[in-house]
Amino acid sequence: MGIIRNLAAHVGVIRQTLLRNHKRITMSRRLHARRLDGVDKNVWVEFTQLAADYKPVNLGQGFPDFSPPQFIQEAFCEAVKGGPEMHQYTRAFGHPRLVKSLAKFFSRIVGHEIDPFEDILVTVGAYQALFCAFQALIDEGDEVIIVEPFFDCYQPMVLMAKGKAVYVPLRPREGSSVLSSGDWVLSAEELASKVTPRTKAIVINTPNNPLGKVYKREELQMIADLCIKHDLLCFTDEVYEWLTYDGAKHVKIASLPGMWERTITVGSAGKSFSATGWKVGWAMGSGHVIKHLKVIHQNSVYHCATAAQEAVACGFEREYELFGTPESYFQQLPAVLHNKRRKLASCLQSVGLQPIMPEGGYFMITDVSSVKVDLNDHGTKDESYDFKFVKWLVKEKGLATIPVSAFFSPEHSKEFDKYIRFCFVKEDSTLDAAENILRKWSQTK
Ligand code: PMP
Ligand code: GLN
Repeated sequence: MGIIRNLAAHVGVIRQTLLRNHKRITMSRRLHARRLDGVDKNVWVEFTQLAADYKPVNLGQGFPDFSPPQFIQEAFCEAVKGGPEMHQYTRAFGHPRLVKSLAKFFSRIVGHEIDPFEDILVTVGAYQALFCAFQALIDEGDEVIIVEPFFDCYQPMVLMAKGKAVYVPLRPREGSSVLSSGDWVLSAEELASKVTPRTKAIVINTPNNPLGKVYKREELQMIADLCIKHDLLCFTDEVYEWLTYDGAKHVKIASLPGMWERTITVGSAGKSFSATGWKVGWAMGSGHVIKHLKVIHQNSVYHCATAAQEAVACGFEREYELFGTPESYFQQLPAVLHNKRRKLASCLQSVGLQPIMPEGGYFMITDVSSVKVDLNDHGTKDESYDFKFVKWLVKEKGLATIPVSAFFSPEHSKEFDKYIRFCFVKEDSTLDAAENILRKWSQTK
């Protein structure tokens, strides 16, 4: 059965390659723009295609394989049935009902009155908020400090803005057992040493993808102090803000004194309401900064789907009323994920793998260097170990994961090429199917 599935997948890949090669134009000039140099590879494109070809049990790409909550599905259906205006253009920088509900909701959290029309830009997912931030605020030659491991798109976005990415790693705390993402810390001295007169911004991601680190208030204060001292911007990607475990608390760096004016906070309705396909996100910050992101937005995407924005607005209005209660989805989702995280961790441990327990987010990474496999026929010769390993795992065992070196700079990826990432925002039956694969495999070793 596995052989037939693999054969069908191989034939599919060959057919697609032949089709792609069929139509090609030849130009006397260079066809592609130079800004594409060095940014053409994308781990999601590559590994979602692999998953589509081989149909494995999928703990790879980060999306829930269950439906969003009923209330938000109903809100979307209501929006679609809500009259002609729900099917037409809305305000470019965010549907009025959505920016008002976001402003009301987050004002309470940030402890600062957020202006719905000045301080918020609604975007096509967090991706587009990040893109607008880099394009609007990073100039040729500007340096951008990125904390590693990082969500991979920050690097190409800096490059496309003609900036220079400078990396500073989270490192295991000395003497720690390194079994929790909380053991990974940022050295204040190392971070400060990366600041130069060209530094424009520091990029952080809390809770972090892929490690699951949730920055503590003191760590954020240290970053904030540096931003204020050197007059830097802070881009903070907080798409997993509701997902924290075992008492870890998400703190918004924008809420620290002196940071609102210089922080762009990025969020995602896709992650907040388990509806990643809706692609509604936002950038939030002081109007004098956000106005520049709006220029990129108005000249590229203009706005995102009206009905989806209306539904997300209903979601936030509901969450505002229920905030902190057991009925709030922002309480319920982490409670459900807490169990799934434990389930995946014990499954990995039972087959001899040692996961790094995430304090937040919906990913878990583990070192696979103890697993002995022959990877010669998987991936290309110069590909890193984890890329080959993940390809082998999909093709030979029917389990999809993501290689962790994709979240590191070329300078440091070698140090982490024995780690792979599992996603646990999945039905228990999916996690059980993954467990069966791992157990069967460990018994045959
Ligand atoms: N930032 C991080 C850390 C992510 O993991 C993702 C993937 N969802 C994004 C941004 C992009 O989010 P969206 O799907 O809302 O564009
Ligand atoms: N953010 C998701 C992840 O980390 C997916 C991103 C994507 O597919 N481009 O898995």
